Amino acid sequence: MNKMMNAAIAYEFGKPLVVESIPVPDVPSGMILVKLVACGVCHSDLHAVNGDWPIKPKLPLIPGHEGVGIVESVGEGVIGIKEGDRVGVPWLYKACGKCEYCLSGWETLCEQQLNTGYSVDGCYAQYIIADPNYVAHLPANLGFFEAASILCAGLTVYKGIKETEVKSGDWIVISGVGGLGHLAIQYAKAMGIRVIALDIHEEQLELAKSLKADIVINVAKEDPIKKIKTAISGAHGVLVTAVSPNSFSQGVDMLRRKGVMVLVGLPSGKFELSIFDTVLNRKTVRGSIVGTRMDLIESLDFAARGLVTVHYTKDKLENINNIFSAMKSNKITGRIIIAL
Ligand SMILES: [Zn+2]
Ligand SMILES: [Zn+2]
Repeated sequence: MNKMMNAAIAYEFGKPLVVESIPVPDVPSGMILVKLVACGVCHSDLHAVNGDWPIKPKLPLIPGHEGVGIVESVGEGVIGIKEGDRVGVPWLYKACGKCEYCLSGWETLCEQQLNTGYSVDGCYAQYIIADPNYVAHLPANLGFFEAASILCAGLTVYKGIKETEVKSGDWIVISGVGGLGHLAIQYAKAMGIRVIALDIHEEQLELAKSLKADIVINVAKEDPIKKIKTAISGAHGVLVTAVSPNSFSQGVDMLRRKGVMVLVGLPSGKFELSIFDTVLNRKTVRGSIVGTRMDLIESLDFAARGLVTVHYTKDKLENINNIFSAMKSNKITGRIIIAL
């Protein structure tokens, strides 16, 4: 008889999750069983359970890819990780390790990859089976709740900032000060980059100010393009974490010549790109998806050194459907972390 665990399960797209008791899975050889302590709630989880994206997740599905916990047991043949180790289970559940992307340190682009809480069951549960080669090892001085959202939100924006190619002293626009944006501001500042934070909510802009954003703009009240062009002649980089499609075309207009805009938010839809502006001003528009295992080590290290702090509220697994509703109406400041 297997031990039982609570899990939140999506049975149909667009329907509320069902929290129920299911058996704890057995550990296959080469894998580990992690007893989860916490899991952050990511906007992508909402997209997953709504079936919003062109590639659909498995059903039924346990969502969640910001899970942190303790290794409970290790399968046969596992080396380099032991019972009691503190680990995190990120979006990149596993990759092939053999393709051109894996071999060149771009495992996040592996076509054979599996994704936690999407193509395999995720971390809205008390236990998860994970791949020892793809889990994060949590720094000793970083708490579980402090680490959880670094696994996706922190990692995503850290990599996204690197992908803008901005340097210390340059200007970056962080569009959207939500779960991703509030971390992006901190990473950018820690990297010596000057920050312009954009949002439509005063509360979020107050948070941006408290995180030492150099300029904050309420885009519902002021024209951000005009203000950025006037104040600094355009930004070197733009990181779009906002989910309104409008932020994407606006972002390109905020760039100075040779600027790079990086997209990390994932609303469905398209945006218009002026060919003339892109060519003449040598602008780059680039997508970025989470980050590699090396990026994850680096992004956790910023948090362990106290340079990046996740603003979070603890919640319960049973409350997941209310959390999703609040997320849909943009009522969440910072991040929600579920205690498991
Ligand atoms: Zn995520
Ligand atoms: Zn691969």
